[in-house]
Amino acid sequence: MSLAECDLGFESLDLRPEILANLRKIGYHEPSPIQAAFIPEALRGIDVIGQAQTGTGKTASFLLPALERLSEGRYPQVLVLGPTRELVLQVHDEAKRIIGDMDVSLACIYGGEGFDKQIRALQRGAQIVVGTPGRLIDMIRRGHLDIRRLTTVILDEADRMLDIGFRPDIERILRQTPKERQTLLLSATMADEVMSITNRYMVDPVIVDLSSKEISVDRIEQHCFRVDEERKLKLLMRLLVREKPRQCLIFCQMKSSVRDLAEALGKRIRGVMAMQGDMPQNKRTKVMKAFREGQIRILVATDVVGRGIDVEGISHVINYDVPEDPDAYVHRIGRTGRMGKDGRAFTFVTAVQSQLLTDIEKHINKMLIPDSIEGFIGCLPGGKERAEKALAAKRARASMAMARRPRRSPGGGGSRRPKGRVSRRRG
Ligand code: AMP
Repeated sequence: MSLAECDLGFESLDLRPEILANLRKIGYHEPSPIQAAFIPEALRGIDVIGQAQTGTGKTASFLLPALERLSEGRYPQVLVLGPTRELVLQVHDEAKRIIGDMDVSLACIYGGEGFDKQIRALQRGAQIVVGTPGRLIDMIRRGHLDIRRLTTVILDEADRMLDIGFRPDIERILRQTPKERQTLLLSATMADEVMSITNRYMVDPVIVDLSSKEISVDRIEQHCFRVDEERKLKLLMRLLVREKPRQCLIFCQMKSSVRDLAEALGKRIRGVMAMQGDMPQNKRTKVMKAFREGQIRILVATDVVGRGIDVEGISHVINYDVPEDPDAYVHRIGRTGRMGKDGRAFTFVTAVQSQLLTDIEKHINKMLIPDSIEGFIGCLPGGKERAEKALAAKRARASMAMARRPRRSPGGGGSRRPKGRVSRRRG
């Protein structure tokens, strides 16, 4: 469904007048496609799975029905589980905006910060609790959080939570909640692990599938460059000069690369910061705030923290390191082009990474546009094939050399390269 097809406005969604008034106040006039499809199902009180990318308005999709079901009792009624601190803070902020001056209490519970403030928020009688699984378990164990009367449990970015390894915590929490709860699950992908959670903990869920690959990536211009590892920094500098991004998010694969790249860039240009999982939470919060307010122009990050970033001003995403998982690619570039805005994404690919690029292109059903800049070429048509041929020839030479050796080890000489990536998606 396109936005134009659901131009009925929020009024058609059967929400309380004070919620509608708040939506108008914060400038939400029309539901996004996921909201138009997900909210009516969730309002029926049944279990719903929403398959949608971030940046499509999925937070309000689950918050609005949850708010609608809320009673006046000052005890935890709605629990939202999210993968990272950044993400739960974002959900919390979105909830605050939607709630406006309605009398609804909220608590945000996440690790990496002291307990006291969070305990006080729970003691004030939080009706909606948003948190990361680990810290939530801590709060339950210590007796600060009682989840036995929850009416709604929401698993946001379920695929990401499972990737991080939160499965045991999620299951521990779900087992303690009432059986008659409503469970809403949001996920960009329906990997097998997600399916297994839905099979065990959801009752006849309705699936709202807006995962259509075009959703988050269609409005984003996607380019690629072929570049040798040691020339990436030079290419990046040229690209930044040419593109003059309003705000730019640069992804590296490893924490150490984030640190190194941010330092190298910082010596050359102003307004560069790093963001990776080893940084203390207060530093991460400060960096996020500065980025959101536009004081930081260039943020270098790893996937873990990059995933939670929702900043409207991001005009460019650069994959300094090509992601190894095609889903991660969609998540990364989805940081730009938020809520229908345009964005540009660039991916640097070294010769040996051709297969990763092919996997991404298959996944999004689209070819990245080869770009070029003085001294650097894109993945020119045929470039990939050439690289693959060169690799195949190299491998053939290596295996011939192995065959000529007098004593071959068992299985030696054959290609160790995995034959393509194993897709984690169903179907
Ligand atoms: P999300 O996918 O929930 O992270 O939302 C992406 C961005 O869109 C957030 O900044 C939201 O505040 C904003 N947003 C969500 N729904 C709407 C809407 N119906 N109209 C305008 N903005 C929205």
